[in-house]
Amino acid sequence: MPMTAPPARFEGEPHSVDLHMHSTASDGALPPAEVVALCRAKGVTLMALTDHDTMAGIEEAQAAACEQGIGLIPGTELSTQWRGINIHVVGLLPEGPRGDLVAGLAAQAEAREQRSHRIAERLEKIGLDDALARAREQAGSERPLGRPDFARALVAAGLVPDIGTAFKKHLGNGKAGDIKAHWPFLATAVAWILDAGGVAVLAHPLRHGLTRRKRGLLLDDFAAAGGQAAELVSGFQNPDVTRDLARQLQERELFGSVGSDFHFPGGHLAPGSMSPVPRTATPPVWTHPRLAGLVATAAASPGA
Ligand code: AMP
Ligand code: MN
Ligand code: MN
Ligand code: MN
Repeated sequence: MPMTAPPARFEGEPHSVDLHMHSTASDGALPPAEVVALCRAKGVTLMALTDHDTMAGIEEAQAAACEQGIGLIPGTELSTQWRGINIHVVGLLPEGPRGDLVAGLAAQAEAREQRSHRIAERLEKIGLDDALARAREQAGSERPLGRPDFARALVAAGLVPDIGTAFKKHLGNGKAGDIKAHWPFLATAVAWILDAGGVAVLAHPLRHGLTRRKRGLLLDDFAAAGGQAAELVSGFQNPDVTRDLARQLQERELFGSVGSDFHFPGGHLAPGSMSPVPRTATPPVWTHPRLAGLVATAAASPGA
């Protein structure tokens, strides 16, 4: 089935574009090919797989996307730090990993490894013996560990009743298991993405509990570093909030992206199931010159 070209403007629901999703290459539940299949089932025709700090799932996703006639933009979601806050930057990478991003991704894997040892030390102090081995068991593979693996280990050991409590008490922002020191600064991660010929997208800017003013400072620094876009809609959000964010993007000439941040089936999010984007003057990120070529090719030659 030919992939229809994505709209030149945001057109509300349903979403045929979802540019933020996870697979088993990071903390998602489905293998890359199954994420692609689910996208197809949900009517998503242009997708990006954006696993945390890795592009290990892209090859499998690309093969599946070709087979199913879906447009796939290779991506990743980089962990960074900005003013002591853990900020995520999605890289949309039509040319795959190259340039400074290659060493950048290797550094992220090493940072995750080092960080996992420090998180384990912290959690052992609150009674999770052999924390690293338990988190590895939860991950169920050799992929780099993330905080969700430690959260599940805390639940399995009976130290907290659920994942939400694990983050609230031990792993969330400012808690003992929230180790940020290993991540690069925001501007560094943006530079890696630019050097790879990609588009840097500030992920879920509304999800950090920032005041409007501080969010503006974040967007200022991101744009000054060369970042080109921000997620206008991530998952579910109030349309008035979206309009206000669109204003902040327009002031800085940033493109807008949309993503579900899908991690696993059965939750409240599925590929393409985000809030609608109200009509605003913010241009969709897939019209950015660095992506337009790949998007047009995907639309013209499905299965190629
Ligand atoms: P990490 O990439 O290791 O820093 O872990 C961050 C990941 O943990 C996010 O991408 C989410 O998937 C997950 N996460 C963060 N906060 C929560 C929460 N409160 N409840 C459940 N999962 C969360
Ligand atoms: Mn995640
Ligand atoms: Mn994120
Ligand atoms: Mn994400």
